[in-house]
Amino acid sequence: MYIVMVASECVPVAKVGGLGDVVFGLGRELEIRGHAVEIILPKYDCMRYDHIWGLQVVWEDLRVPWFNGHIPCTVWFGFVHGRKCFFIEPHSADHFFERGTYYGFPDEHIRFTFFSKAAMEFMLKAGKRPDVVHTHDWQTAIIPVLLYEIYAHQGMDRVRAVHTIHNFKHQGIVGENVLWFTGLGRPAYYCSVDRLRDDFNPTALNLTKGAITYANYTSTVSPQHAWEALHTDQGYGLGHTLHRFKEKFGGILNGLDYEMWNPEIDPYIAAHYTRDTLDRKYANKQALRHRMMLVDTFKPIVAYVGRLDTQKGVHLIRHALFYSLQHGAQFVLLGSSPELGINNEFWHLKHELNENPDCHLEIGYDEELAHLIYAGADLIVVPSLFEPCGLTQMIALRYGTVPVVRAVGGLVDTVFDRDYSDKPVEERNGYVFHQADFAGLESAMHRAIGLWNHHPDEFQQLMRQGMAYDFSWSQPGQDYVSVYEWVRHK
Ligand code: ADP
Repeated sequence: MYIVMVASECVPVAKVGGLGDVVFGLGRELEIRGHAVEIILPKYDCMRYDHIWGLQVVWEDLRVPWFNGHIPCTVWFGFVHGRKCFFIEPHSADHFFERGTYYGFPDEHIRFTFFSKAAMEFMLKAGKRPDVVHTHDWQTAIIPVLLYEIYAHQGMDRVRAVHTIHNFKHQGIVGENVLWFTGLGRPAYYCSVDRLRDDFNPTALNLTKGAITYANYTSTVSPQHAWEALHTDQGYGLGHTLHRFKEKFGGILNGLDYEMWNPEIDPYIAAHYTRDTLDRKYANKQALRHRMMLVDTFKPIVAYVGRLDTQKGVHLIRHALFYSLQHGAQFVLLGSSPELGINNEFWHLKHELNENPDCHLEIGYDEELAHLIYAGADLIVVPSLFEPCGLTQMIALRYGTVPVVRAVGGLVDTVFDRDYSDKPVEERNGYVFHQADFAGLESAMHRAIGLWNHHPDEFQQLMRQGMAYDFSWSQPGQDYVSVYEWVRHK
């Protein structure tokens, strides 16, 4: 099959969140399976150009219709670690993608609807007729609408649209002007409840609602999160629309980059190991203690790695720290928050615990240290309030570090409680709690620390069972191929 992905991010050239990882990781997996994949991105001035190979102009003057006139664009092509990427560079006084950063501007919806329009126009004029156009999040959510309302009538009638929602919180709530800019026009038609009208703001259009309505299939990033979006408030108001189209909505778990996260070859850890040489993991524990200035003693290390965001259950992270210290464990934390209040809280904690030989907090972003923590810790806590997919628990499992997680979103699909899961005993891999409160967290941590202390052999067995899981892109790649096949025959 021939798949074109249109997205606002792709690692490592343009990354803000997990969306960029999915675009690259899925693209690579599809190519390994013999599919032709192209990725269309904006040509941001702040991209990592050092990761683009052979960047060259492939289309000099792409005239993209916009409102009453057009905006000329240059289209570039280059390889991003083997992926074939096209970059769209508009030439207008608005300098849509020449702002030194990716997101955060008042005209955000104009920037990305323009990019979406330009991507469609490029495919049309360059004669690209993919089997599937795969779009991601609100930034490119208007594409399924444009495809079926405009481009299908201009020769792209056999192209199918798949849309992936990585974050339901950001839906692209826009004004009617977007219709005039993109050439869709006809506000009375598009602003109806069964098309793009936002269910809570009758004067606004909701681009994600439009994508769910028009795309041949919409996915989110784990099966459990798909269920939550349909049946709980996690759909952020889109539950009704998802219900209407539930036969073409589902969840596909994200994959993990198995080249980047591999304890057998990881360049950032002290000792390499596998499931069969798990004892070598201990050298990483010592290296972590050394790096974090912890005392070398007979205690498990509990870790947290991730953003310090309300979403991640900040009060429970803090509680996990004190619970660990009070119950014979050491605790390390690596994280940061864009919110000043939360950052200050953790800086304060760091100072308060500065002299404690069993605890270290590292406030900031440090890729290399993250690898050493995954390799050196015994347990990792992920007490999220919501978690569409979550990568930290998957990385931890790969590194033989036992996850203690709250039962929400992708965590439900990946972590299976050692004592209570309905999976066979030999497939259980961690500890799970349900309520987002101290008692819930303590119940799981108590069991985890207890096993480490009293049944080390069984704890090692649990580590091995976690390492036996395959969270690579292999299965998700297959799942997306199945979706593409399904939409092609509709
Ligand atoms: P989210 O996308 O919501 O932030 P995920 O669990 O999906 O959470 O992905 C988080 C990723 O970012 C993981 O790879 C984790 O190791 C990494 N990460 C998060 N915070 C830090 C940090 N402070 N330093 C290094 N890596 C981090």
